[in-house]
Amino acid sequence: MHPVGFGKRHMVCHCLLIETPSSGLVLVDSGFGRVDFEDPTRRLPKAFSRMVRPDRDPGQAAIARVEALGFSARDVRHIVLTHLDLDHAGGLVDFPDARVHVHALEHEIAMQRTHGKVSGLAKHRYVPAMWAHDPTFSTYSDAGSSLFGFEAVRDLHGLPPEILLIPLHGHSRGHSAVAVQSDAGWLVHAGDAYFDQGEVHSPKRKCPALLRAFQSIVEFDRKARLGNQTRLRELAQAHPEVAIFSAHDPRELPAG
Ligand SMILES: [Zn+2]
Repeated sequence: MHPVGFGKRHMVCHCLLIETPSSGLVLVDSGFGRVDFEDPTRRLPKAFSRMVRPDRDPGQAAIARVEALGFSARDVRHIVLTHLDLDHAGGLVDFPDARVHVHALEHEIAMQRTHGKVSGLAKHRYVPAMWAHDPTFSTYSDAGSSLFGFEAVRDLHGLPPEILLIPLHGHSRGHSAVAVQSDAGWLVHAGDAYFDQGEVHSPKRKCPALLRAFQSIVEFDRKARLGNQTRLRELAQAHPEVAIFSAHDPRELPAG
């Protein structure tokens, strides 16, 4: 996507595909769905698709990437979401049999949106058509174990303990990071906890003004959001071996 007003900045939606020994394929975040690339006007709010301008390339959808690897939608048995914003939950419908794991607070507000009980920003960021196929949700509250000083939810329903949810609220109500202990070390998909690598991967927060303004406009809780950015920055400094990346900065996780 090439959002207008961000200096023609190219943005992506990073998803992770994890092969597990006993839980099949696990997808972390689902990006836009195939239909959103085919026709951005069908499900995405007009103002959003005009501003963000998703590429008209269905080959970029997570399902297309999964199929290109020789798998089918049914092989993806679990999807762990950082949050339910339209650019993270759009792909759910392409994997209708997958169990969807998300923080309870995020699930609650998105379902309130489904029933027309929200106003303001929540009305626009959540698109009920993205879960109209009625997937099985597993939801989690803040609790459990800890990881690098963060509270973490381990033992997600049906998933190995190497995949954890780290509540990092602020961008949205129940926004969380997803940590994965891979053979190559720890990966932390920080979702929209930050948008520019300079916010976390430099000693002091650095972020272009327009991107900073955008994050303020779409935030649920500024104090929590900025506090969590500081904690991520400290983690990045203290543990450079941990691969921390955000959802939308293409300079991070370039192999994706
Ligand atoms: Zn996003």
